[in-house]
Amino acid sequence: MGITKTDFMRGMQCRKMLWLDKHKPGLRVIPPETQARLDAGNDFGDRAMGMFGPYEEMTVYRPGTRIPDKKKMAEKTALHLAAGTPVICEAAFLNYNNYCAVDILRKTESGYDFYEVKNAPEVHEQFIRDAAFQHYIISRCGLKIGHIFIVTHGPDEEHPFVPVEITEAAKGAYGWINENIWDLNRIQKEPNEIGTEPGDQCTHPYACWYYGYCHGEAPGEQIRMEGL
Ligand code: SF4
Repeated sequence: MGITKTDFMRGMQCRKMLWLDKHKPGLRVIPPETQARLDAGNDFGDRAMGMFGPYEEMTVYRPGTRIPDKKKMAEKTALHLAAGTPVICEAAFLNYNNYCAVDILRKTESGYDFYEVKNAPEVHEQFIRDAAFQHYIISRCGLKIGHIFIVTHGPDEEHPFVPVEITEAAKGAYGWINENIWDLNRIQKEPNEIGTEPGDQCTHPYACWYYGYCHGEAPGEQIRMEGL
């Protein structure tokens, strides 16, 4: 069991959040508006796959499920990279069981650029960290990455995909990812619950789905949190 991009982002917000994801996921309460925002993001990401024309998608599910088969996706990605496929979507990479799937890889003269799609009008700091995690995993898998972009949701619905380059910031966070990823790997395997006190991290940068559990609320008393 390694760390995924989602694990990393959640674990960096709160170590206990990551631990609960792995050991007590049934305690999560996802507000309907949050689920709607996640679904809209997935739809936007699906539409963006075609922004550079024809593409190959790497998604492979475990038989009879909608659970991605990470190993098979990474193997399929490796085949397409070896073949020089120009545009690869959901390109998957595994390094010591740490995993990421990149929204869009686009071939260049010297390697590949990558594009992370976000259904938001501007680039937020956590998007850069998100892309930095992916760059870390991809680099350790031996693929040379040139430029890195966040694809934002622009105002023109006819042409909504607006790439913003973040190469320097994402590559510059390599050391920070390395400093934390192995600690998160250790924490998620801890047998006992992590004893983090509630604080600012419960609502920033994202409202935590374990808020009620950690704040001693019954499920029916869940409060609405700012920023959802
Ligand atoms: S509610 Fe707060 S303390 Fe509890 S898991 Fe979430 S962020 Fe961590």
